[in-house]
Amino acid sequence: MTASPSEPYDLAVVGAGSAGLAGAVTASELGLSVALLDSSTQSGGQFYRHPAPALGAVRPEALHHDWSAFSDLRRRLGASTVDHLTGHHVWSFIRESGGSGGSGGSGEPEESGGSGADGESWTVHAITGADGTEERPVRIRARALLLATGAYERQLPFPGWTLPGVVGAGGAQAMLKSGLVLPGRRIVVAGSGPLLLAVASSLAAAGARVPAVVEAAGYLRYARSPRALATNPAKAAEALVHGAALLRHRVRVLPRSAVTEVHGTDRVEAVTVSRLDGDWTPVPGTGRRIACDALAVGHGLVPQIELATAVGCATRALPDGTLGLALSEFQETSVAGLWAAGETGGVGGAGLARTEGELAGRAIAARLRGRRADPAPDRGVRPGRVGELRRRRDRMRAFADVMSAAHAPGPGWPAWLEDETDVCRCEEVTAGRVREAVTDLGARDARTVKLLTRAGMGWCQGRMCGTAVACLAARDGAPEPPAERRPFAVPVPLATLAALDEPTVEQTP
Ligand SMILES: Cc1cc2nc3c(=O)[nH]c(=O)nc-3n(C[C@H](O)[C@H](O)[C@H](O)COP(=O)(O)OP(=O)(O)OC[C@H]3O[C@@H](n4cnc5c(N)ncnc54)[C@H](O)[C@@H]3O)c2cc1C
Repeated sequence: MTASPSEPYDLAVVGAGSAGLAGAVTASELGLSVALLDSSTQSGGQFYRHPAPALGAVRPEALHHDWSAFSDLRRRLGASTVDHLTGHHVWSFIRESGGSGGSGGSGEPEESGGSGADGESWTVHAITGADGTEERPVRIRARALLLATGAYERQLPFPGWTLPGVVGAGGAQAMLKSGLVLPGRRIVVAGSGPLLLAVASSLAAAGARVPAVVEAAGYLRYARSPRALATNPAKAAEALVHGAALLRHRVRVLPRSAVTEVHGTDRVEAVTVSRLDGDWTPVPGTGRRIACDALAVGHGLVPQIELATAVGCATRALPDGTLGLALSEFQETSVAGLWAAGETGGVGGAGLARTEGELAGRAIAARLRGRRADPAPDRGVRPGRVGELRRRRDRMRAFADVMSAAHAPGPGWPAWLEDETDVCRCEEVTAGRVREAVTDLGARDARTVKLLTRAGMGWCQGRMCGTAVACLAARDGAPEPPAERRPFAVPVPLATLAALDEPTVEQTP
């Protein structure tokens, strides 16, 4: 592709998981110049995480469902002109010029004369290298942005959760898919959400003994939404596949239960599993020990949206108490020229992420070409591909909301905590100190607790402890989900910031 060095890309996509890949290849096939940035060295994101080539895995697809969807996207990426920039950690983006941001979130992309929304361009700042250690600052300009940064795991603390051998449920899956290793030989899988079933069946299929899947919620809540179930038969089929795998491997599923303590000196030796009431409060006298050498635990996923909230994008409260980006019918955020797809708008799985990515890619191409994305509704023509994608997205989102509500943490979970339990593991702040900040010092929200105790000030910037601190600070009623506005989405060396005004490497189409 020829272009003068100062010419921006039409589109920069952040995140090369299911959503970002679909958005990038769709936009490229529709004629846009596209840069696709991802901090990982391979495409595929969390769902299609696969072994590094050096491991020589013969059949990486054996660890995945629906591998053909990914291989199709990967083939199209290879055949396209997309600049796939691996190992690029995006720490910020800034809108350099343009108007008021008025068209964002309004629905149908407008006929805008073939430029980016309001003629703006974006500058994306990234650093390269593993964890930014061999960093090289890179700057990319683009007329439109698609944010597809996925989600991270939500953790609720309990006594012993910092012992070696306790790993995230998604983390255990990631170790298996990318490193072909298991976190232990006898692994309890616990927490809440459908990911637990997928993780347990993968671990068992890879040779681990999984004595139990411990699910804090019940599954009956799904039955309260028969329409969402009936219109998403693929989800029911997926659950049946996992259920059959668990039966085959003799894995017990314990609903309405939680791991309330981990035992061991140097590493995990056993866990206590307690029955929960409807609020997730442990029922006294129900604790029983299960021997294991690892615990894979996660309480759902949290949309990773810091890059968007830093530029003022509106959010919406999701049924499980997390925040996702508020999006238009065509996946545009409330900030014009910035679109989002996949888990950034709410957790819903790889199929939904692909659908939203393609929809966003088509809407962006239409906007930049000055056309309407979906001419069908008001021109009386048969719905085209965009209409089909919108309907599919709505159907899958409805199911995602049901799933999110079914696994929302109950208000009783803080009863799992002892005063000595570390809540913020980066800064080693205990539950007792957080409670003291609330009851003795009058803190009412996570931010005040942070100022008084340092909880959330460490390396992970509250990704691990944010939910727990917000719940403890709320005292009565549901906690306010923290709408984080951080200038940096990933750690950035001071030297990179100091050199911002100096000439830097600019990646161009
Ligand atoms: C740890 C984990 C494990 C999971 N395992 C499973 C599973 O086994 N089965 C299942 O059905 N679902 C799983 N999920 C959910 C599943 O990943 C999603 O449904 C699906 O991958 C969503 O696709 P996405 O494109 O929105 O996000 P992702 O696939 O997560 O892709 C996001 C991409 O953005 C990149 N990224 C994020 N931030 C930046 C940044 N600042 N700069 C550059 N790149 C960035 C990431 O490297 C990643 O490649 C898992 C989720 C998590 C968090």
